[in-house]
Amino acid sequence: MSDSAVERSLGGASHVPLWLDSPARPAARPPLEGEHECDLAVVGAGFTGLWTALRALERGDAGSVVVLEADRIASAASGRNGGFVEASLTHGLDNGVAHFPGEIDLLERLGRANLDAIQAAVEAEGIDCGFERTGAIDVATAAWQLDALAESAELSVAHGAPAQLLDADSTRERVASPTYLGGLWRPAGTALVDPARLAWGLASAAERRGGRIFERSPVHGLDSAGKGALRLATPLGALLARRVVLATSAFPPLVREIRRYVLPVYDYVLATEPLGPDRLSEVGWKGREGLSDAGNQFHYYRLTPDDRILWGGYDAVYHFGNAVSSRLEVRRRTFQLLARHFFTTFPQLEGVRFSHAWGGAIDTCSRFCAFFGTAESGRVAYAAGFTGLGVGASRFAADVLVDLAFGAASERSGLDLVRSRPFPFPPEPLRSAAVGLTRWSLARADRHDGRRNAWLRLLDRLGIGFDS
Ligand SMILES: Cc1cc2nc3c(=O)[nH]c(=O)nc-3n(C[C@H](O)[C@H](O)[C@H](O)COP(=O)(O)OP(=O)(O)OC[C@H]3O[C@@H](n4cnc5c(N)ncnc54)[C@H](O)[C@@H]3O)c2cc1C
Repeated sequence: MSDSAVERSLGGASHVPLWLDSPARPAARPPLEGEHECDLAVVGAGFTGLWTALRALERGDAGSVVVLEADRIASAASGRNGGFVEASLTHGLDNGVAHFPGEIDLLERLGRANLDAIQAAVEAEGIDCGFERTGAIDVATAAWQLDALAESAELSVAHGAPAQLLDADSTRERVASPTYLGGLWRPAGTALVDPARLAWGLASAAERRGGRIFERSPVHGLDSAGKGALRLATPLGALLARRVVLATSAFPPLVREIRRYVLPVYDYVLATEPLGPDRLSEVGWKGREGLSDAGNQFHYYRLTPDDRILWGGYDAVYHFGNAVSSRLEVRRRTFQLLARHFFTTFPQLEGVRFSHAWGGAIDTCSRFCAFFGTAESGRVAYAAGFTGLGVGASRFAADVLVDLAFGAASERSGLDLVRSRPFPFPPEPLRSAAVGLTRWSLARADRHDGRRNAWLRLLDRLGIGFDS
């Protein structure tokens, strides 16, 4: 496809994330002003913070709950993602087996129950968020990926998760792309959702139970206030809390320790205009499955409730010093690359335009799934490191956070997943150098039949990596 055709497809695309560019977006709640008190303060109103508030209120452990959000509800990763709600708590079964071999079957069971519980909450709260339990297909677009899919299929079946290998023809019968050489159909563990509408619905559900949410209230200080209380300072006010949960993802953390384990990695997404029935029929996709390709640098894509194609991934970008900034959410070069890959996958859609192009920060950690911790003598609990698969896992994490903040013993809090830490990233400038070498090696492996060089083999042996 020519440069000018790529440019035309992107011309006029809005950089507001599709999900946030919606008439359903609620008006901003007012910021925190003056002194307030509560039993549980939650910092961050993405999925982790909102589920924590809701679960604490539902469980009744917490008493009064206040959420403080620096910007707007779901304005960060939670309103910018692909909307894949995965049952896996471990960024996929393969990664879970590698890190938690002794408890993976329990984690898989808890993950399936977690996905069911999300669906039940959506139904019970009447949240209109296009929740569809579609299943997913991993597609191979290079011959070496077929072996990887076959191994994944075997592993899935061995751990009780249904999975079926598809040959090239049956993959293309479902979704018509000349690039597909085969696929792995996983019917059970994936739902698709409009993530912003889900987050707004969770916020309302928490408020109906008495929770309070303050937007545009960045917490810039967390200190002990004596008598067992903690003081959270915001520009216009302060909150005294008995317990605090930090759900601040890739942003500069209020507990310094978290920074060792988290890299903010920018991931980018395009959404087409609504395709309409004629253009959609050129692709098929009657099952509306969530799709991703099986390379190290991979795309994820799906249909939206109004039949656009959302197309994201591939180019995971880290910036020196854990930089996080709204100016990093737009990256022309990556949008062009994504558009080019889109039309290679779906050449029959030539002429389709992208209405939205945006980016967001992912809280990558070296084991690709959330880690947990406490600070201030156990009165502060935190979770981070979901690495691009936190839409579903954040609900499970919320229950862990309530357990940790209030010292409740549970099956969850004893898990190795909860008690162990990922391998920390080195400080700068080594951090950037290690990410650069890893990204280069992964791209090289994709070009050389998946063969991993000495650096990637070393990381594999240490059980660490870089992903989105
Ligand atoms: C482009 C992209 C695509 C993705 N696709 C998927 C996907 O398809 N499926 C999936 O499962 N996951 C996906 N993810 C990851 C997923 O979005 C996250 O794992 C999930 O939303 C994490 O939610 P969170 O609440 O932990 O973080 P966030 O949504 O980032 O929320 C953290 C909040 O904390 C606030 N905050 C930070 N510091 C402070 C402070 N000091 N005071 C007050 N507030 C503060 C921030 O403003 C922010 O709103 C994707 C992420 C991105 C960026």
